[in-house]
Amino acid sequence: MINLKDLTFEELKEFMINLGEKPFRAKQIFSWLHRGIETFDEMTDISLNLRQKLAEVSYISRMKIIRKLESKLDKTKKYLFELGDGNRVESVVMYYKHGITICISCQVGCRMGCKFCASTIGGLVRSLTPGEILDQVLFAQKDIGERISNIVMMGIGEPLDNFDNVIKFLINVNDERGINIGYRHISLSTCGVVPNILRLKEYNFPLTLSVSLHAPTDDIRSRIMPVNKAYNIDKLLDACRDYAYYTKRRISFEYALIKDVNDNKYEAVLLAKRLKGMLCHVNLIPVNNVDENNFEKPTKEKIKEFMNVLEKYGIPVTVRRELGSDISASCGQLRRKEGLKEVNQ
Ligand code: SAH
Repeated sequence: MINLKDLTFEELKEFMINLGEKPFRAKQIFSWLHRGIETFDEMTDISLNLRQKLAEVSYISRMKIIRKLESKLDKTKKYLFELGDGNRVESVVMYYKHGITICISCQVGCRMGCKFCASTIGGLVRSLTPGEILDQVLFAQKDIGERISNIVMMGIGEPLDNFDNVIKFLINVNDERGINIGYRHISLSTCGVVPNILRLKEYNFPLTLSVSLHAPTDDIRSRIMPVNKAYNIDKLLDACRDYAYYTKRRISFEYALIKDVNDNKYEAVLLAKRLKGMLCHVNLIPVNNVDENNFEKPTKEKIKEFMNVLEKYGIPVTVRRELGSDISASCGQLRRKEGLKEVNQ
């Protein structure tokens, strides 16, 4: 059985032809699916006969809201969704002036092993399919009753470790027959899987690539991010320069400031020197404490000092505003607190 939301429009057309149907049916069905219907019966302009035929060979995936936390401070909503097989992922809806943004997950767990990150603690269970990645947008949208206009792929999992499914998701979410979110309204964050940054470059999507750098030297980075042992900072920054040059898009570097690990003034200087001349932006994130580790945020003064150094070197820099601080901090934590999975656990 195939989840119809896993197919791109072109694949759905092919699927309809193989069923002996007219290809134009694909357009109707694609648009129903992406409007968030949950049963074939809701496809009111499709004959009963065809609806039954579809139900025999395919299905429409659904997600259950297991838990929903709502911030009293800024309306931020955090969802724990359950997938068809009982696995769980998190998504966060944030209200910005420029529109409603959702932060989505692309894997159940993660195998990248970053030391400060809650998502990686139980390892990787499995990757999400394109339809499951999309469902987070569809079901959150349904729940809030408003259109979501921006997407950040910064939830659980490593997008570039689920490359093909993420590409299909991006094509589908951008499709004008579906929810049609522009690539300029999408950010994709990676810990630095270099070969797949180069593969992504070839698609030339005008999305924002965020790169989790978090350290100015290989010594520090390898200690907190095992991926650095496979692709070191030189290789990563070469790929980033290549990406920025080719796509003409500014790279956004994420730098989680961790007390006594990467927050010293000279580390800011090293970082600035490495990034000098690149089309980029640095986003400083005071690290969120995770129960299972003991990383701490630097003081406000220390954060300011780090920022000042980057500014002095002419590197565009911002400190990430914290939203929903009253509803269980960073992604990956809710899934751990609420149990990873209802079944087999
Ligand atoms: N795998 C992708 C996207 C998921 S994490 C990546 O690594 O980029 C999204 C961002 O949150 C990344 O920059 C990640 O390094 C950061 N992050 C993870 N845990 C964090 C924590 N405890 N405090 C601050 N930032 C964290």
